[in-house]
Amino acid sequence: MPDRYAVIGHPIAHSKSPLIHGLFAQATGQDIVYEAIDGGAAPGGFQRALADFRAAGGRGLNVTLPFKLAALAVADLASEDARLAGAANALRFEDGRIEARNFDGIGLVRDIEVNLGLPLAGRRVLLLGAGGATRGAVRPIARAGAARIVIANRTADKAEALAAELAPHLGGVPLVGCGLAALGTQGAFDVVINATSASLDGQAPAVPAGAFAPGALAYDMVYGKGLTPFLRLARQAGCARLADGVGMLVEQAAEAFAAWRGVRPDTREALARLTVPLA
Ligand code: NAP
Repeated sequence: MPDRYAVIGHPIAHSKSPLIHGLFAQATGQDIVYEAIDGGAAPGGFQRALADFRAAGGRGLNVTLPFKLAALAVADLASEDARLAGAANALRFEDGRIEARNFDGIGLVRDIEVNLGLPLAGRRVLLLGAGGATRGAVRPIARAGAARIVIANRTADKAEALAAELAPHLGGVPLVGCGLAALGTQGAFDVVINATSASLDGQAPAVPAGAFAPGALAYDMVYGKGLTPFLRLARQAGCARLADGVGMLVEQAAEAFAAWRGVRPDTREALARLTVPLA
C-alpha cells in the first residue's frame, strides 16, 4: 500500500501541489499517493478532515489558505520557524503525534540562492507587506546572513509591531519595520520582495524607485501571473532581475517532501512545468 499524503485548503481545486508531489515521487521512486482535500468553509471543517485523513492512515499534509494558523494550533510539536511564523504549511503524523513545520521561508531562500543564483549573505533585503508570508520569511532570510532587513507595509503599525516581535530572534541581524510612505528614508536594497497580496488585485505597493539598488532582484511572491504590476514597477525603476514566486512554491514543496520521505527531490522538472514567462 502506498503512503498517503495530501494538500488541504479551501478552495483547493487550483492547487499545484498534487502535480508537484507527483513529479517528485516519480523522480525519486517513492511509492506515495497525493491528493487534494477541500476543508470547506464551515467551522471545524479543517479539524474534521484532518482527523479523517489520519484515521485513514494519512502520513502528512501540506496546508494552504485558510488553514495555516489552524494547522499550527493542532500540532503537538512545532519547529521554531512555524512558531515564529504563527502558522504551519506542512504536517507530519508520526508516533501518534502531529509535527508542524513552516517551509515557506526556506523555500523562498532556496529559490533566491539556488535557482536564481543570488546568495543572501551581506544583502540588504526589503520585504513589502506584513502578513503571513513576510512573517514566515524574515527568520530564514536572517539565517541566510542578510546584512539588514526592512519590513515596509501599507499599515505602518503592523510592520513596526512585527519587526519588534521578530527582531530578538534573528541572531543580531538588524530589522526595521516602517510604513511604505517612509521607504524614502531607508536607502536602497539588493533584494526587494513583494509579499503583499496587491498583485492579486492588479495593484502594486507604492515603492520608490530609489529602493532598488543597482543590480537588485525584484521578487514577487505571487506566481503564474506573468509580469505583475510590482514587477512592471520594478522594471520601470531600472531593475533587470525579475522573478515571481513559482520557485518558492516548488522549493517549499521539496522541503516537505524531504521531511516526509527522507530524500530531497530535484526541483527542475516541476519548475519547468509550472513557470509562466514574465511577459
Ligand atoms: P496576508 O497575510 O493577507 O497579507 C497581505 C499583505 O498585503 C498585508 O501586509 C497588506 O497590507 C498588504 N496589501 C494588500 N493589498 C495591498 C495593496 N493594494 N497595496 C499595498 N499593500 C497591500 O497575505 P500573505 O499570506 O502574507 O500572502 C501575501 C502574498 O504572498 C500573496 O499574494 C500570496 O499568494 C503570496 N504567497 C506566495 C507563496 C509562494 O509559495 N509563492 C507562499 C505564501 C504566500 P495591510 O496590512 O495594510 O492590509
